[in-house]
Amino acid sequence: MEDCLFCKIIKGEIPSSKVYEDDDVLAFHDINPAAPIHILVIPKKHISKLTDLSKEDEALIGKIYTTINKIAVQEGFSEDGFRVIANCGKNGGQEVMHIHFHILGGRELGPKIIH
Ligand code: AMP
Ligand code: ZN
Repeated sequence: MEDCLFCKIIKGEIPSSKVYEDDDVLAFHDINPAAPIHILVIPKKHISKLTDLSKEDEALIGKIYTTINKIAVQEGFSEDGFRVIANCGKNGGQEVMHIHFHILGGRELGPKIIH
């Protein structure tokens, strides 16, 4: 989609520090990391927010989670653990309107979800 920051990253119009890519999924380092490891995982299909997901996206979202596991092994933080966050809409604090999954790790994040 035009005027979508993450679609521009997918097309290579805006540079990113890529961690993983296949036909359906792209992962890159967050430009403003909130933890020592902060990776964003996005579908290549433009979906604005979690509430726009439909039945046909179920396999894609499943693939995102298995890809997160793959990335955790590839980057060496699978054993230590990590957190996955997906913000949705105004109250969720979503700033970029292309669904994305934050992988946070590299230190003990503690039990609180809000940071
Ligand atoms: P959210 O608040 O969940 O919408 O998260 C958007 C995330 O995108 C934030 O953590 C930003 O730091 C990150 N971000 C914004 N622009 C870029 C960029 N050009 N490259 C990588 N990450 C970005
Ligand atoms: Zn997009």
